[in-house]
Amino acid sequence: MSTVLIIGAGGVGGVVTHKCAQVPEVFSEIILASRTIEKCETIKNQLNKPIRTARVDADEVEQVVALIRNVEPDLVINTALPYQDLTIMEACLRTKTDYLDTANYESPEAAVFCYKQQWAFHEKFKDQGIMALLGCGFDPGVTNVFCAYAQKNHFDEIHYVDIVDCNAGEHGHPFATNFNPEINIREVTGKGKYYENGRWLETEPLSIHRPFDLPAVGTTEMYLLYHEEMESLVKNIPHIKRMRFWMSFSNEYLTHLRVLQNVGMTGIDPVDFEGHKIVPLQFLKRLLPDPSSLAPTYKGRTCIGCMIRGIKDAKPREYFVYNICDHAQCYKEVKAQAVSYTTGVPAMIGALLMLNKTWRGKGVFNVEEFDPNSFMACLNRYGLPWKEQLHLPGNVLA
Ligand code: NDP
Repeated sequence: MSTVLIIGAGGVGGVVTHKCAQVPEVFSEIILASRTIEKCETIKNQLNKPIRTARVDADEVEQVVALIRNVEPDLVINTALPYQDLTIMEACLRTKTDYLDTANYESPEAAVFCYKQQWAFHEKFKDQGIMALLGCGFDPGVTNVFCAYAQKNHFDEIHYVDIVDCNAGEHGHPFATNFNPEINIREVTGKGKYYENGRWLETEPLSIHRPFDLPAVGTTEMYLLYHEEMESLVKNIPHIKRMRFWMSFSNEYLTHLRVLQNVGMTGIDPVDFEGHKIVPLQFLKRLLPDPSSLAPTYKGRTCIGCMIRGIKDAKPREYFVYNICDHAQCYKEVKAQAVSYTTGVPAMIGALLMLNKTWRGKGVFNVEEFDPNSFMACLNRYGLPWKEQLHLPGNVLA
């Protein structure tokens, strides 16, 4: 029996709240807090179980501290934006409360995302006897667990990992992002980067791409991106030689993005407009559909997984582990599209494993540092069943 405080009532926060409410034997009390309280109320009204709501500006440490002192949660789940990671972690530290999030810290002023500032909390969390679990969505999150599961059950040495994230869904808008537009566009327009033989190699944005033939979604063009789970995975997979991350984009998405970039609408430096300072990307976010509003009409499926090669019993081995998720099914269950769903379900599972003490530690951790088997069992139980095969699909990677 535990009390959980969820901060951030967007697409992902809505799914986490629904899924926690489905497991009342663990999450006996739920408080959903966000900057816009009306969004909390909308989610609250979708549930069969009563929850409490609150308004909080999570950029303000004092406000988060006051809220935590008021509701006394056993765990804070951060589903606001990466900008709020450090303030919420600081508030957890001051109140000796466990913490979980789904995306690593970014500063609004620079589109750089890395774990450095969050890992820097490790000793302080350890001294207070509390735990932080970082990046517990799908990617990062389940992809890290997939690698840990492969390492534990299928390989003596993992040498090559290709993470594939394909969304073959259709939302019916000419241009929209599947999660927060500002965070999404900052990620996609940044330089690509992958890990090879102990070094990080940089590529021009979206310059490397190739088709992948994936289960349930067919042949799809996928683009090499830098993605945050690689930062911790290359530290935690001892024999890794190369790690890459690939994501699908439709031609329509890429064409719109190119135009928006060319006219300066994706910029993050403030510009003067009729006496006001505005950040073009923040203004663009205002005009784009809210990711959660895509859910009612979204059709099609996602396929996200890890293609792994290495050695088992002195012989080469291939392994592919993945999940297929259906947008319309997610809407039916929790009023969300599959990208929010695949992020929110693992956050609930991570919270559950922390609260029932299956995953425990003092300090700051990434998910691959804990036993993957219990998490994999929960994925099957709570809505994200996975499949595995001892060969890579169709077009084997070079
Ligand atoms: P949304 O934009 O839909 O939701 C974000 C919510 O956070 C909004 O309700 C917003 O409130 C609230 N918020 C923003 N700033 C503050 C603040 N200062 N104080 C309190 N609340 C605030 O985003 P998503 O739900 O799509 O994404 C949520 C998180 O999930 C992001 O960090 C994203 O990077 C991460 N993510 C992780 C994935 C993974 O697989 N690991 C995949 C997809 C997303 P308001 O409505 O007032 O703006």
